Amino acid sequence: MKNNQSVGFVSIVIPVYNEEATLPELLRRTKIAGDSLEQDYELILVDDGSRDRSAQLIEEAANQDGSAVVGVILNRNYGQHNAIMAGFNKAKGDVIVTLDADLQNPPEEIPKLIAEIEKGFDSVGTVRRNRKDSMLRKLPSKMVNLLVKKSTGIAMTDYGCMLRAYRRHVVDAMLECHERSTFIPVLANGFSRHTSEIDVDHDERADGESKYSFMSLISLTFDLVTSMTTAPLRMLSVFGAIMAALGISFGILLFILRFIFGAEWAANGIFTLDAILFVFIGAQFIGLGLLGEYIGRIYSDVRARPRYYVQEVIVGQAAKEARESSK
Ligand code: UDP
Ligand code: MG
Repeated sequence: MKNNQSVGFVSIVIPVYNEEATLPELLRRTKIAGDSLEQDYELILVDDGSRDRSAQLIEEAANQDGSAVVGVILNRNYGQHNAIMAGFNKAKGDVIVTLDADLQNPPEEIPKLIAEIEKGFDSVGTVRRNRKDSMLRKLPSKMVNLLVKKSTGIAMTDYGCMLRAYRRHVVDAMLECHERSTFIPVLANGFSRHTSEIDVDHDERADGESKYSFMSLISLTFDLVTSMTTAPLRMLSVFGAIMAALGISFGILLFILRFIFGAEWAANGIFTLDAILFVFIGAQFIGLGLLGEYIGRIYSDVRARPRYYVQEVIVGQAAKEARESSK
C-alpha cells in the first residue's frame, strides 16, 4: 500500500495533570508495551503544571538508569492539547503516539497503532470499543463527533479518544500551527493524506477524577468547532437574509390585503409596522453576519497556519545535476 515506510523510532507522548495516583502503574505498563516493540522508543511525559507530586515522579523516572523517559515540565497548566504540543516539540520519533495518563487508554494497544501506521497511513485514530465513561461525559462527545462529521466531511468516528499515532511529517506540520486553541486529532486530520481507525479497549479511569469540568468541556467543544470552520458565523447572515425576505413578503401581503379588506382590517398600520420591524431585524443579522465574515478572516489570519506543508522533495537526476552546476 501507499508509502510503505518502516518505522525506526517511536515517541510516546503523554500529558500529565495531577495524576500521581496512576503514574507508577502507567510507567510500568507503558514500559512493558514499549519494550515489546521492535523499534526503539522514548516516553515523553509532559507535566502540565500539576499541583501534586506528578512532576517529581516524572523527574525520578527520567533519572533512573537506562530510562526511556523524557520529562517535560511546564511551568503552569496550559491544558491537555497544549501539553501534548509541548511533547511533540521534544519528540524525535518517526512515529508519535499520544495517550492519556489515566490508563483509560491501555498502553498495550500501542504496538497495534504502530503496525497500522506501517501499512502506510499518516495518522491512525481509535474507536473506543466499550467506552467506560458516565452518560454526562459521553453525551457532549457524541454531539461533537456528529458536528465534526457534518462540518468537515472527514469521517472519523471518535475524535475524543486520544490514543492516536501520527507520522513525523504530520506532527511537524502541527508544530507550525501557532493558534492557541487547538484540538489535536482534528488538526492532524488536516495534514494527513491517508487516515485509518482501529478498535481499542477503553477502561475506567484508574484513579482520580476527570480533569474536565462541564465548563472546560464547553470550551474544548468551541475550540474544536472554531478550529475547523467559521461556518457558524456565516449562519448569521443566512438567518438575517431569511428574516428580511420574510419581512418583505409579509409587508407585500399586508399591502395587498389592506386594499382588499380596508384600513380597519390592517389595524390602522400596526401590522405594517410588524413587517417593517422584521425587515430591520433581518438587516441587523445580515450586518452581524458581515462582521462575522471579517472576524472569521481575521481569525484565520491571526492563526497564521502554514498554507501547505512539504513532506518530501524528490529531485530528478537531471534537475539535481543542473542545480549543482548552476551553483
Ligand atoms: N490533562 C492535562 N491537562 C489538563 C487536563 C488534562 O494534561 O489541563 C491530561 C490528563 O492528565 C490526562 C488527559 O489529559 O492524561 C485526559 O484527561 P482526563 O482523563 O481527565 O479527561 P477525560 O478522560 O475525562 O476526557
Ligand atoms: Mg480520562
